[in-house]
Amino acid sequence: MQNTPSIPRTIYNDEHLLFFKTVADFAAKEITPNNEQWEKDHMVSRESWQKLGENGFLCMQVDEQYGGLGIKDFRYNAIFTEVLALTGCAGPAVGYPLHSDIVCPYIDHYGSEATKQKYLPKMVSGEYIAAIAMTEPGAGSDLQGMRTTAVDKGDHYLVNGSKTFITNGYLCDIAGLPKEPTAKIARHQPVVMDANAEGFSKGKPFHKAGLHAQDTCELFFDNVKVPKENLLGSEGHGFTYLMTELAQKAAA
Ligand SMILES: Cc1cc2nc3c(=O)[nH]c(=O)nc-3n(C[C@H](O)[C@H](O)[C@H](O)COP(=O)(O)OP(=O)(O)OC[C@H]3O[C@@H](n4cnc5c(N)ncnc54)[C@H](O)[C@@H]3O)c2cc1C
Repeated sequence: MQNTPSIPRTIYNDEHLLFFKTVADFAAKEITPNNEQWEKDHMVSRESWQKLGENGFLCMQVDEQYGGLGIKDFRYNAIFTEVLALTGCAGPAVGYPLHSDIVCPYIDHYGSEATKQKYLPKMVSGEYIAAIAMTEPGAGSDLQGMRTTAVDKGDHYLVNGSKTFITNGYLCDIAGLPKEPTAKIARHQPVVMDANAEGFSKGKPFHKAGLHAQDTCELFFDNVKVPKENLLGSEGHGFTYLMTELAQKAAA
């Protein structure tokens, strides 16, 4: 396994290159040897998530008060993903970064204080695995076609519906999903759902043409109660959040 970038990168300094080598050493020991078994299992191990957490590779951008390293330089996240891609272990190369780089920023930037305290430390340590649940059988590219409902019940939302093709779906402890699909798209508002909540269930990992170690699956919601404090951001700006957090910039 190579421990430097394939081509020289002017955006990396010596510390970035050292980090590249650190991740490559970790991957050679903890990821590559296990991938064959994970592909048979159709998922990576939970233990692997905890090892990533112990080594500080998950949600590096999260502030120290929530257990993170406070590294706001996305080049480190990009290096982590690049090294995983170089291992050829496609499943882990998708699932781990999705947790840190796609789900985590929604909670980090738009979560209430209670939500951040509840979820971020466990996402940093690898105790909680996160997924993002947008796609439905009838709504992939066209997010406005979502049918899952989240009805306001005063102190909580009542969520009903289903999602499909969800990366990290089978192992996930929490899932972020947009609510209020029947309103205007500007009101698609993310909420955080606990996967162990009553009425939250999961399908089996799909047998796919590739990404065999990735536990992509369906999620089902049958009258799942989501506390109001799990709303991300303020009502009415949801689609802006969905759009802005899918892209990252290289350095603060
Ligand atoms: C391995 C894997 C992991 C995934 N992980 C996640 C996840 O973690 N979370 C999640 O929410 N989703 C996930 N998805 C779902 C993914 O985001 C959707 O597959 C994607 O949005 C496309 O939706 P669709 O499959 O319904 O295809 P469709 O939207 O039905 O599109 C089918 C085809 O039609 C084309 N098309 C669609 N609309 C138009 C248009 N208006 N004009 C021209 N062409 C068009 C598309 O380009 C495509 O070629 C995952 C999918 C896969 C395969």
